[in-house]
Amino acid sequence: MSRIASVLLPMPLPEAFDYAEPEGLELAVGDHVAVPLGPRVIRGVVMALRDGTGGNRPLKVIQGRVDDPPLPPGVLAFVEWAARYSVDLPGFPLAMALRGLRHPPPKPDKVLVLTGTQPARVTPARLKVLAAAEGVALSSAALASAAGVSAGVVKGLVDEGVLAVDFVEPDRGLPQPDLSLPPRDLNPGQAACVEVMKEMLGAGGFQAALLDGVTGSGKTEVYLEAVAAALQDPEAQVLILLPEIALTQAVLARFEQRFAARPAEWHSGVSPPRRRQVWETVASGNARIVVGARSALFLPFKKLRLIVVDEEHDSSFKQEEGFIYQARDLAVARAKIEGASVLLASATPSLESLFNAQAGRYRWLRLSARHGAAQLPDIGLVDMRETPPEPGRWLSPPLIKAMAVTLHRGEQAMLFLNRRGYAPLVLCKACGEKMKSPDSDSWLVEHRYTGRLVCHLTGFSMKKPEACPHCGAKDSLVSIGPGVERVEEEARYLFPDARVAVFSSDTVMDAEAAKALVATMVAGEIDILVATQAAAKGHNFPNLTLVGVVDADLSLRGGDLRAGERTFQLLAQAAGRAGRHEKPGRALLQTYSPDHAVMQALKAQDRDAFIEAEMGMRQDAGLPPFGRLAAVIASGPDGAALEAYVEALAAVIPNAEGVEVFGPADAPLATVRGRRRKRFLVRAERNVDLQGFMAAWRARAKVPNSVRVVIDIDPYSFL
Ligand SMILES: [Zn+2]
Repeated sequence: MSRIASVLLPMPLPEAFDYAEPEGLELAVGDHVAVPLGPRVIRGVVMALRDGTGGNRPLKVIQGRVDDPPLPPGVLAFVEWAARYSVDLPGFPLAMALRGLRHPPPKPDKVLVLTGTQPARVTPARLKVLAAAEGVALSSAALASAAGVSAGVVKGLVDEGVLAVDFVEPDRGLPQPDLSLPPRDLNPGQAACVEVMKEMLGAGGFQAALLDGVTGSGKTEVYLEAVAAALQDPEAQVLILLPEIALTQAVLARFEQRFAARPAEWHSGVSPPRRRQVWETVASGNARIVVGARSALFLPFKKLRLIVVDEEHDSSFKQEEGFIYQARDLAVARAKIEGASVLLASATPSLESLFNAQAGRYRWLRLSARHGAAQLPDIGLVDMRETPPEPGRWLSPPLIKAMAVTLHRGEQAMLFLNRRGYAPLVLCKACGEKMKSPDSDSWLVEHRYTGRLVCHLTGFSMKKPEACPHCGAKDSLVSIGPGVERVEEEARYLFPDARVAVFSSDTVMDAEAAKALVATMVAGEIDILVATQAAAKGHNFPNLTLVGVVDADLSLRGGDLRAGERTFQLLAQAAGRAGRHEKPGRALLQTYSPDHAVMQALKAQDRDAFIEAEMGMRQDAGLPPFGRLAAVIASGPDGAALEAYVEALAAVIPNAEGVEVFGPADAPLATVRGRRRKRFLVRAERNVDLQGFMAAWRARAKVPNSVRVVIDIDPYSFL
């Protein structure tokens, strides 16, 4: 009797489809197969096999097996778990798990080898080729170059049959970490954390810990030693997740120093052929250490023993487009499925992780003492109402004075502003019109480097017009507010002799550029670095002693759940840039609300006071981590159809204990790319099966073709 295979396809389908296993194929769970779907043939993955007849659809026969490494059971379970968690279709997380296979496998290398046939005629040039070819397999060009002869000499020997063409698999190995190297010297606090990690790894099974240590306390050394301990098992693999590509180079270098081998890298900057290679070496177990972005969670690890989520509080772990997920939460789930340990590391942990640590669900590893001689920076508030900048400028007299003193000492300053471009808003002084993206409700941001107005939401851009598109007035468009480019302009004006550079995603496009800029800063070739949050994390600048936060109120104005938390995290990290080494650092925060709890907590460097206040607020409001949130975002170009759908959805909200639904309401960004947007917000008590509620609710209303519905569990964006 033939078997039935449940095959999941990396496509927007509601479930895995049943297919018949052809005679003699002997499939296994995790195998890649080619299956017919309508007129097409699609690659899918076998999720389950069973004996019997009859499937969830008329059975078609599997066409064949695709010869790629099978997906391990842990990945299959993780794909199913992630789809359920995100209330989304399982084909999306599967597509992420298969991403490394999009590029075809590398072709075998064409090489030349000696056949043993003696040449008919011996010349000095031919002898050189014979000597160079002894015992190796080189390409024709490499052999000619190694022998120092022309290509014609090599070709003559091939024609005579002295050399023959052969094909070899390209080298797909990775250098293996050297585990015999001595660990770095640890201070007692670090050593205690490493001991706990060793205990957790030794105990086996799922274990979670929060590594909570101020900036510069040496968290990286702790997790490097945890990695070393995990790798004592000769088959173990570890994954280090980072929020940004800009950080990977620094972390890779640390691993290279510690283990004399570069870890495998996985992020959007890795080329497709290289991705395929990394995917395969992870599947074979040969990649022992992987450093990557959030999507690395979907790699086919054979024996994953430890996941480290560095900068675990960082909001870029939340993927907001396509398949929506929070990589920190999924990392914990993957560790659970694999029976592995997970270590969440941060100087400013998320309230969610602190909540879990306080409740005893995570081991809480606290690092308080700074490693080495570094001191915490002194944090001061500049009251912008008392000492405002000159009109049309953004740096206050106290900050300018501190910069002058710093530069005079030959030290470096960083000006921090989490806003790209030149000005966040351009308006017409004749008619008051604000320049907006033509198909969105977001303001256009002026970029002076490119002379364009850019929508940071959709990527739309246009040349800055000479006349107002609304009233036609000439030269009437004025730039409102500062972006990093404008602060750079002011810094150059104030300190004409200083070397000024900008670190933002517009000036530092990839990991290589980030590495180059960081090296320039470390070498002391920059005096003033103007930076967005791209530079607020991870990097060590020994001669940086002053951080000026241009607009400390910026995130507080965002008006979303995590605004206060994010402000605290960003400012604490930006301030922590200063004086990480021997020189004492200083941070000055420009604010119009010096009395705000966040500002006061920062000034006092009292994280506990801030957390207590923030936790109390969230608890009173039943917000995460005390309650759970989910958003429904419905959008479509047809306003009437959208309206009808959200009304229908509102009419069929399931009755459930401990769940409240707010909406429908126009989304704050009511139009994006010509699509109108409506939102619901769902708040549930912690013990409610929120995913089950959302899935049941969505199934009750038919979605018109023109409407797109997105469910966002634990939303970070409220736009
Ligand atoms: Zn106008």
